[in-house]
Amino acid sequence: MARAVLMNAAQLASYSQTKQALLDSGEFGEVCRGRLRVPGRRENYVAIKTLKGGYTEKQRRDFLSEASIMGQFQHPNIIHLEGVITTSCPVMILTEYMENGALDSFLRMNDGQFTPIQLVGMLRGIAAGMKYLSEMSFVHRDLAARNILVNSNLVCKVSDFGLSRFLTENSSDPTYTSSLGGKIPIRWTAPEAIAYRKFTSASDAWSYGIVMWEVMSYGERPYWDMSNQDVINAIEQDYRLPPPPDCPSSLHSLMLDCWQKERANRPRFCDVVAALDRLIRNPASLKVTLAEGRSVSQPLLDQRPPPPLSACASVSDWLRAIKMERYEQSFLQAGFNSLDMVSQLNTDDLLRVGVTLAGHQKKMLSSIQTLRIHKAPPPLLY
Ligand code: AMP
Repeated sequence: MARAVLMNAAQLASYSQTKQALLDSGEFGEVCRGRLRVPGRRENYVAIKTLKGGYTEKQRRDFLSEASIMGQFQHPNIIHLEGVITTSCPVMILTEYMENGALDSFLRMNDGQFTPIQLVGMLRGIAAGMKYLSEMSFVHRDLAARNILVNSNLVCKVSDFGLSRFLTENSSDPTYTSSLGGKIPIRWTAPEAIAYRKFTSASDAWSYGIVMWEVMSYGERPYWDMSNQDVINAIEQDYRLPPPPDCPSSLHSLMLDCWQKERANRPRFCDVVAALDRLIRNPASLKVTLAEGRSVSQPLLDQRPPPPLSACASVSDWLRAIKMERYEQSFLQAGFNSLDMVSQLNTDDLLRVGVTLAGHQKKMLSSIQTLRIHKAPPPLLY
């Protein structure tokens, strides 16, 4: 039974909400920040989702079905439904407000800014939310960093239930095989779900492994610019994503477990939560980096590895070495086309190039410092 708070026009008078800032504008509607005033409760911020005018009856039903799914959940790591307003035009869904927005863009904006423990804390929250969903026999089917929201305390909550499907408890087969049709987010989806649409909590565990990789690489795109078909082929040939830079091997091992071909061999979400709790209790286990924990039998999907700084011969090499290749065009357009020029840059120059994020500036400036040391002429000997 859905717990959604249905508000009608009469109630709206007392449940007043005001739209304040546009958070996102998509094909089907808008997400705004607003304030919700409910008698007897402290006024607080909410996110208000609306469906754009001109929608069909089916779009309205789909839109509201997400709220009715969300309304059945009550967990600190699942986005909380505040209420639904169906009598207004447009129809509105009110959820708790998450100050830092979607996890993927939040990480990209704060590249390199968190400690391993903070990152594992985020992952632990997502795993706890997924454990709850799997215990409710829910299969999310679209678990990805873009569908996780982050609040001001860095608490991560699973969101976006547009693709979720409820499994009835008395179903003889506790797995759900979707009907034909519908889009599949290939890079996040387990091979059996792509091949024959076998969506289960074990396919969610595969996606969770990809979310771990997204988090540890601060929002990098899984499989970079490979095409969907190349990703499918690589996975089929047992290739797997390599550990992101500075990723503790214990975490990469857990990712590889989530990407086991045989779905019964993947960890359940209760196992993932327990494994992350063990790491959090023993922070030394997060210090071990690089591939010492790699299984030799499992080849890793290594694209061109970033060159070491000492081997960089061009601006493009340098940007790749520090995982900032997204700025290549901007550097060239601004006329910074040699490492010599790059080694002279300061914060103002970086701003002119369009590097406005503090985390990216910090990363570049510290690498520029190293470049200068490499470039410095040897001391004169008398
Ligand atoms: P959605 O339509 O649920 O995929 O949301 C689209 C975007 O709106 C998200 O990527 C967030 O940037 C923003 N958003 C959605 N829900 C919230 C929320 N509860 N709090 C803050 N931002 C949100």
